[in-house]
Amino acid sequence: MFCKFESRTCGTQSIPMLKVEHIGIAVKNMQDANLLFEKLFGKAAYKKENVDTEKVTTSFFQIGETKIELLEATDPNSAISKFIEKRGEGIHHIALEVQDIYAEMKRLKEEGFTLLSDLPHKGADNKLICFVHPKTANGVLVELCQEIR
Ligand code: ZN
Repeated sequence: MFCKFESRTCGTQSIPMLKVEHIGIAVKNMQDANLLFEKLFGKAAYKKENVDTEKVTTSFFQIGETKIELLEATDPNSAISKFIEKRGEGIHHIALEVQDIYAEMKRLKEEGFTLLSDLPHKGADNKLICFVHPKTANGVLVELCQEIR
């Protein structure tokens, strides 16, 4: 087991995961949550954006190199509404920035992870994104993202 990990870190030239790009937090009320997180972080959100494909409205805070993304559902059928119904408000996903999202999706599939889509799609903040099913990732919804250049 350990040898496998060692050989991966030593032997490969490509860097699969670059950093934790952002952490997504599901909120019921964006206005209230914005005020709360503004107080917590001591700064205002730098961007607000609707993502129609995901049926959410988002708000972004920059904390050093990482961002915090607040997500509010704009539709009762949105994944965020369902998440809040089941698990309540709170941390929804962790987004990892990758160099090559297609290569990473292929690698993770080969490793036995289930992806929520076969192709990446456009998410908030000018990114191509894809999600890894939480059932195959220890209950954590992982988002892969790559800046659209
Ligand atoms: Zn996200």
